[in-house]
Amino acid sequence: MISGVRVFEAAGGVLVVGGGPAGMAAAAAALRHGARVTLLEAGYDLGGQYWRHLADERRGAHEHRLHHGWSTFQRLHEEITGHPRCDVVLGGSVWAIDRHDDAPPVVHVMVGAPDGTDREPRSYTPDRLILATGGQERTLPFPGWDLPGVFTAGAAQALAKGERVAVGQRVLVAGAGPFLLPVVSSLIRTGATVVGVAEASGRRRLARGWLTRPWELASTSSKAGELGGYLKDLVRHRVPYWTGRTVVAAHGTDRVHSVTLADLHPDWTRVEGSERVVEVDAVCVSHGFVPRTELAVAAGCQLDEQGFVITAAGQQTSVPNVYSAGELTGIGGADLALAEGEVAGTTAAGGVPRPSLIGQRKNLQNFAIRLESAHGIRPGWQTWPDPQTMLCRCEDVTVGELRDIAAKTQSRGLRSLKLTTRAGLGVCQGRTCGRNVEDLLSESLLPAGRTSYRPIATPVRLGELAATITPEREDPLP
Ligand SMILES: Cc1cc2nc3c(=O)[nH]c(=O)nc-3n(C[C@H](O)[C@H](O)[C@H](O)COP(=O)(O)OP(=O)(O)OC[C@H]3O[C@@H](n4cnc5c(N)ncnc54)[C@H](O)[C@@H]3O)c2cc1C
Repeated sequence: MISGVRVFEAAGGVLVVGGGPAGMAAAAAALRHGARVTLLEAGYDLGGQYWRHLADERRGAHEHRLHHGWSTFQRLHEEITGHPRCDVVLGGSVWAIDRHDDAPPVVHVMVGAPDGTDREPRSYTPDRLILATGGQERTLPFPGWDLPGVFTAGAAQALAKGERVAVGQRVLVAGAGPFLLPVVSSLIRTGATVVGVAEASGRRRLARGWLTRPWELASTSSKAGELGGYLKDLVRHRVPYWTGRTVVAAHGTDRVHSVTLADLHPDWTRVEGSERVVEVDAVCVSHGFVPRTELAVAAGCQLDEQGFVITAAGQQTSVPNVYSAGELTGIGGADLALAEGEVAGTTAAGGVPRPSLIGQRKNLQNFAIRLESAHGIRPGWQTWPDPQTMLCRCEDVTVGELRDIAAKTQSRGLRSLKLTTRAGLGVCQGRTCGRNVEDLLSESLLPAGRTSYRPIATPVRLGELAATITPEREDPLP
């Protein structure tokens, strides 16, 4: 085991990693069922991506107006913070998990500002571990996607929600999925003109995904209400919503000044001759979300073929005493994350989830299946980039270089592919390009989720690492 100079050991209890909707619901449920709980959150606030707050100095009395489900956030926040059996650690980044056969995993954390020099190393040995580390956006590459002025939709949303800043004046929103709509609403509220929304999935696929067995959607009516609000914004501000269309190139020298839009076939290959150029000063792109599975992989949890953590009825993973909830197990939005978190917290604390909660989770999981069937990425995207398109932005590896080197070396393993192509070898360690690399080398070289294998889940300075090695662990010199 790695132990630190200033190591904090907290044996026993339920340890929750991630303070988003899933982690908050898990912590609250575990407390309700009598457990001692530690909640670790890398950020300086609870709420995750869904309840992202204004910075402290700009926080106002009307923050609730910026959020959906604010009363749920407040209820959970009150339940957790200040509870005598709950320790909430903000600014606590879990950077590694050690496995020890039948013993509980050891969770290594750095507590403090990520850019500070005095982070406190801690190790936790919980009885039960709940992983709720959420997801991150996936953006598909196209020529010019690395120009200034091209943002991920999530980054634009974070700037709008956290800073009240719009990324541009004339903004195009493109990609796939209902997440594009809250981004449009936030852009409008921060003063931008949204010139259009390009949804890559075509009308027929959208209809098949969303309109089959419509009565099942009744159980997710809160989502319909949220969606209705976004659609109202589209109509009121006359924002065109195109389906079966996407951005296939961004143009500019020092920043984007226009984009090429193209119609797409159902498999997302482009319809030749359908291209048209639109002037913009910013583009927001998002093609969905992928789970942040580094810690789950480190803990030994099995993933499914889409790269999500496999869970049983009580949110148990394949590793005894390790549970998982939220975007890690499938992309279904904040309500599903809340339901899964509550189930995980209940079972981890030795309780039995209410049948109504299990039913609610099932409905929301069905909603997630619709989401994937209507908006999930199709393989035709691989025809959008040309060989010069940047793929790995940390190491400047183009799509052409990746394909050439992989073909020449016939590399099969992730490690050798990283070393020979350099894709995923930079600062972000493949967080941004990993899934795209997996797709582009799809002759089953890299099964989904494989590029999430990073023994160190968040950046740690070498000095911090060195300070966590105890003398007895050092190997004797020959
Ligand atoms: C950039 C972005 C913006 C989004 N904006 C919206 C939106 O406006 N509206 C909407 O409906 N949906 C939005 N979503 C989707 C939304 O995030 C999810 O539906 C919901 O928040 C999932 O809840 P969760 O608890 O599973 O994950 P999250 O909310 O992502 O929470 C996970 C938490 O885990 C923490 N964490 C991760 N790794 C570690 C670690 N190693 N150590 C400690 N803590 C860790 C993170 O800091 C985070 O707070 C957004 C997603 C992203 C990625």
